[in-house]
Amino acid sequence: MNQDRIIKQTDEYVLHTYNRFPVSLDHGDGVRVWDTEGKCYLDFMAGIGVYALGYHFPGYDEALTAQLGKGLHTSNLYYHEPLAEAAKKLVLSSGLSKAFFTSSGAEAIEGALKAARKYSFMKYGPDRYEIIAMKDSFHGRTAFAVSVTGNEHYQEPFRPLVGGISLASFNDLDSVRGKVTDKTCAVILETVQGEGGIFPADKEFLKGVRALCDERDLVLILDEVQCGMGRTGTLWAYEQYGIKPDILCTAKALGCGVPVGAFVLNEKLGSESLAPGDHGTTYGGNPFVTAAVSKVFDLFKENDIVGHVERTTPYLEKKLDELKEKHECILSHRGKGYMRGLQFDESVSAGAIASKALKKGLLIITAGHNVLRFVPPLIVGEAEIDEAAAILDECMNEI
Ligand SMILES: *Cc1c(COP(=O)(O)O)cnc(C)c1O
Repeated sequence: MNQDRIIKQTDEYVLHTYNRFPVSLDHGDGVRVWDTEGKCYLDFMAGIGVYALGYHFPGYDEALTAQLGKGLHTSNLYYHEPLAEAAKKLVLSSGLSKAFFTSSGAEAIEGALKAARKYSFMKYGPDRYEIIAMKDSFHGRTAFAVSVTGNEHYQEPFRPLVGGISLASFNDLDSVRGKVTDKTCAVILETVQGEGGIFPADKEFLKGVRALCDERDLVLILDEVQCGMGRTGTLWAYEQYGIKPDILCTAKALGCGVPVGAFVLNEKLGSESLAPGDHGTTYGGNPFVTAAVSKVFDLFKENDIVGHVERTTPYLEKKLDELKEKHECILSHRGKGYMRGLQFDESVSAGAIASKALKKGLLIITAGHNVLRFVPPLIVGEAEIDEAAAILDECMNEI
């Protein structure tokens, strides 16, 4: 099918919940992707932070093909090696204790919130169930996840939401403290807010939240669905804060393309929360996706992917700072590692820049209120960063 027909047929039969860019992508190689008309794009959005290793990273396809040859699915009623391997690597990488695999980020959040409430229920009874979430956060689209997503637009049409949730201000410890009551059981936040506009947690804030949670026996859930898996220059963003969560949520880049997420519990939660019968999933952690996760951990290690991000970050930072210096419409530049945002003023629409960039062969997306978001594959180097910066410079000159 040609591009026009694909677009027409999609719009005819697929529910309109996304305003898609008018291209149909066909295949990728490395950090580039081609549309069905044969046009090539440099990919600086990586399937929204999913394709950490780009397309067809050496060894990845082979591992998936080998598993395809054995079988895609069993059931969580049986043991299998890919699950045992993936869980061990994920748990050891996080410094936590027990993993539960899901098929998406939102489901990882659901599981984490259930585990937090179950822990509190067992220890303190049924009346201690309140959860503190952050304004301008994003945790996914299922009912529990949207209930902790501090974005009125995503919540309003679906009320009543899950009860017992209050919103505090991100990077404001007093605001979080002010929401704690005798009924509070958990705090959930993104170590670096993604959809909200690329806002990293301040070090003092996150350490303060950790201390508050310790003091009141609250479960600290860190959502690293977007900022985890090496994106910020450490495997988990929380490593840069000298703290650990009680529950870590991951997805997006965890399988580098296959639909997989996970929540990982510390020892306390791992032994005193969800038990047989409390939680489940048909697909979650099946042999195909866990073979991918297991291979991703190996490839990250063998190719020092996280080290590459750490080493190349100053260059990306410098290039984006240069763009900011040059163009007055850019108010600020924020982020960590390969997760960055350029905040535009009212005179320029970040969405219009992204559309212009697409025409010039660069895939890039937006976040929050008028922010251009950079979540490229973790394998991009200085040459690709130069290329993307040059295209964006051109776009801004023309706007
Ligand atoms: C994308 C995202 C989610 C939801 O993940 P899905 O796989 O789309 O359900 C949750 N939290 C954060 C921080 C995300 O970026």
